[in-house]
Amino acid sequence: MSLPQFKLMRPRTLDEAVSRLAKHAGGGARGTRVVAGGTDLIPSMQQKLFEPEYVLDVRNIAELKGIRETENGVEIGALTTLTTIEQSVLLRRRYPVLTEAAATVASPLLRNMGTIGGNICLDTRCLWYNQSLTWRKGCGFCIKKDGDLCHVAPGGTKCWAAFSGDTPPALLCLKAEIEIASASGLRRVPLHEFYTGLGDKYRRLLPDEIVTRVFLPASSADYRGVYRKLRVRGSIDYPLAGVAVVMKRSNGHVDDARIGITAVNPSPVLVKGAGELLVGRVIDEMLAEAVGDLAAKTAKPLTTSALTPEYRREMIRVFTKRAVLAAAQVPAQRLIEFG
Ligand SMILES: Cc1cc2nc3c(=O)[nH]c(=O)nc-3n(C[C@H](O)[C@H](O)[C@H](O)COP(=O)(O)OP(=O)(O)OC[C@H]3O[C@@H](n4cnc5c(N)ncnc54)[C@H](O)[C@@H]3O)c2cc1C
Ligand code: SF4
Repeated sequence: MSLPQFKLMRPRTLDEAVSRLAKHAGGGARGTRVVAGGTDLIPSMQQKLFEPEYVLDVRNIAELKGIRETENGVEIGALTTLTTIEQSVLLRRRYPVLTEAAATVASPLLRNMGTIGGNICLDTRCLWYNQSLTWRKGCGFCIKKDGDLCHVAPGGTKCWAAFSGDTPPALLCLKAEIEIASASGLRRVPLHEFYTGLGDKYRRLLPDEIVTRVFLPASSADYRGVYRKLRVRGSIDYPLAGVAVVMKRSNGHVDDARIGITAVNPSPVLVKGAGELLVGRVIDEMLAEAVGDLAAKTAKPLTTSALTPEYRREMIRVFTKRAVLAAAQVPAQRLIEFG
């Protein structure tokens, strides 16, 4: 599959990038797309899901790369690769749920190219959408691209394509914020406000804006973190269900806990009520199971992805239970008993 024709812009500074975006965001009928690692955008362009008039390649902007400890926590440039995140000693020590989630993305080669900014901005996925133009023409276009109906929920007007990034549920658990830049300045938003809950217009990002940094607050550091993921091919695959858990305990009791899920809704989401259920309690199998039930209720998988919605919801329940037990460091042989 060939790439559609586009004009390439390669700014070397953020100022240059945002002024180019301001000029070309309208970009005629086809607009402009930012490309970072290109591991998701390029295949999507080959499938003619995006046919931008301009592509803004931001890879040469050095100021958006790297991990920095500040007095308020840790700052990660949007162009930092997933491999850098996975291998960061600082992140592994202070925010282990993020390194664990990053390590599960795709394959080593794709993690060498793929960035944290691209993972946060990742397009939502659906079996009726991530297909070639010929396939989509044959089977019928849908709301997300070129059509007006949904094959997954016929009769409805909403797109349910699933958000399938691995690091965002971990980032939500860490109460991450992101910085967004445009020619009119910088704005900072909590990550949970970035996603809309819609499969088509899934993120709150204007055409002239670019994600520049991720902030991890000091208050979320040093939590024990676990990420569990369901996928078809263990060596390289998007999540079909994913669960991130962070937990702080003292004297065996939970002081604070958060749980985020991915790949089963149009946005990554925090499981409401999970913290309240866990705080002050000693983790045991029954409690972990109750949290698993809550996570399964939060998951709304549909037939957007491989494996049935019923199985993916069940795996959210099972993985949440396992992740909660692992975060509480329940001995491994007991985990085997629980399945
Ligand atoms: C075979 C295969 C398997 C994969 N498996 C996984 C997986 O298991 N888990 C997973 O999470 N992902 C997976 N991916 C998707 C992808 O590799 C990762 O999500 C990666 O992190 C995307 O980052 P990128 O820099 O390559 O993004 P790009 O492809 O460059 O961009 C992705 C999207 O984000 C936008 N974008 C990128 N950076 C910015 C920015 N700074 N500001 C504004 N918009 C931006 C782009 O315009 C585009 O819409 C897989 C991809 C492939 C091809
Ligand atoms: S959920 Fe419906 S509208 Fe969205 S991509 Fe899938 S088929 Fe299209």
